[in-house]
Amino acid sequence: MDTSAYLKAHIRTVPDWPAPGVQFRDITPLLQDPKVFRVLIDAFVHRYMVRGLRPDVVAGLDARGFIIGAVLAYELGLGFVPIRKKGKLPYTTVQESYELEYGSATVELHADAVQAGERVLLIDDLIATGGTMLAGKRLLEKLGAHVLEGAAIVALPSLGGMQRLRDNGLALHTLVE
Ligand code: IMP
Repeated sequence: MDTSAYLKAHIRTVPDWPAPGVQFRDITPLLQDPKVFRVLIDAFVHRYMVRGLRPDVVAGLDARGFIIGAVLAYELGLGFVPIRKKGKLPYTTVQESYELEYGSATVELHADAVQAGERVLLIDDLIATGGTMLAGKRLLEKLGAHVLEGAAIVALPSLGGMQRLRDNGLALHTLVE
């Protein structure tokens, strides 16, 4: 079995959560099994160890992006910065708001989290509409950083997020569709 199929087999679909009609892709089984967790992290490590793709820093999106992003950064010998939902970061922040299906959301980043010109890998567990990752990219760019690539375990292409992100100039690397 290839890596993508192996990982996919460990993703659980929970119907009607958090709302009726939603098929929630639950990645926690990937983290729970040590063998699968290693395959998952190594898939990202191998990609970003390659010269040319090696970032200066890893930025993770709240909250599952913290789990994989922090481990990945550690394995690559890099620092990790969290992009958090509004109201969680204590120091001076930059903010970016984006539209949700109903209402809007805001994400924040510490103003000194990245330096101008740094090459950042932006990571989350899943790309649906792409709104969260696009907001993360814009935040990092407000600080003058360059987002090398957006990475996620899962992309749901039917929701158009991958196309939207590519249209906004973000290269993507995902393991499972
Ligand atoms: P987007 O902004 O529409 O691309 O939604 C992606 C964000 O929502 C990510 O931070 C995901 O963690 C979360 N998300 C949306 N749908 C799912 C899902 O089915 N499983 C896990 N996370 C999801």
